[in-house]
Amino acid sequence: MRDVRKRGSEAILYVVIPCFNEEEVLAETAKRILKKVDSLIQERKISQKSRVLFVNDGSKDNTWRIIKQLHRENLRFTGISLSRNRGHQNALLAGLMTAKEKADVVISMDADLQDDIEAIDAMLEKYRAGADIVYGVRSSRESDTWFKRNTAKIFYKIMRALGADVVDNHADYRLASCRALNELANYQEVNLFLRGMFPLIGFKSEIVYYERRERFAGKSKYPLRKMLGFAWDGISSFSVRPLRIITTLGILITILSILVLIYSLVMKVIGNTVSGWTFTVCSIWLVGGIQTLSLGVIGEYIGKIYGETKRRPKYCIVEDLSDDAI
Ligand code: UDP
Ligand code: MG
Repeated sequence: MRDVRKRGSEAILYVVIPCFNEEEVLAETAKRILKKVDSLIQERKISQKSRVLFVNDGSKDNTWRIIKQLHRENLRFTGISLSRNRGHQNALLAGLMTAKEKADVVISMDADLQDDIEAIDAMLEKYRAGADIVYGVRSSRESDTWFKRNTAKIFYKIMRALGADVVDNHADYRLASCRALNELANYQEVNLFLRGMFPLIGFKSEIVYYERRERFAGKSKYPLRKMLGFAWDGISSFSVRPLRIITTLGILITILSILVLIYSLVMKVIGNTVSGWTFTVCSIWLVGGIQTLSLGVIGEYIGKIYGETKRRPKYCIVEDLSDDAI
């Protein structure tokens, strides 16, 4: 574990980029990020030993071949490859944990050039001034579809209402010092939601605003199904409030059922018992529905406990180019 933390011109920067089937954008991304890193080195803002670390998240296309080729052409590029597709968050964690052993400071960004590379300067500036975590926050969501923009807005609202501390409109474009990453390594959870975990770490943090662009090429690797799964992971990993809502719901239904009992007793006394059929059927359905929903939510949490208790490794690196990179 590195314990020296340099903030000046001798600070080693690693840019971590998770890639899943990104053959269409990789060459362009590599070109642009190399230009940025080289110019930062020339301006003596970071060390010569700085690298760009690609994480191949079990791609089915030529992504890993391209990464190896880039590494052959220029040692500034390095990479690790996961044994299979483990999802964006796990791939990112694999990259961060690999990078922290060699770097003083790490910046994570997407492969599709949606994150503005030019914001790196401002991030490093804040790091130099003493920040351990710098969040890249989108200044607008113009480039997103109407659907994504609004679902994201609802998601952040729900997260906040449920008591989780998240930075609005911050995805995974972020700077973290080696100190912050060493702390992150202590978080043992399996259900990763990194953007919610960094605020938990603490340390001095800052925000840098940037304009989020359209994907440079290729399709989003986050279809609706994965996006919803990710949002649920975020909510259930950081809040137990859904469980409390069930308890409240249970109390309300109990009160309601006492009222129904009184009502049905009165009806019986009056002698009106047969006409209650519609009401009975309706309440059976309603209560059945609520019970099923509640069981479902409880089941989600039990599923999480199950996952956490197994303590399975979150990733497995099969190849590591960074060994011979320095
Ligand atoms: N990604 C990954 N593994 C996955 C899905 C995505 O490593 O299973 C990477 C992807 O290559 C990209 C980043 O995560 O660098 C963000 O994905 P994408 O741009 O498709 O998401 P969006 O911007 O549409 O939310
Ligand atoms: Mg993207």
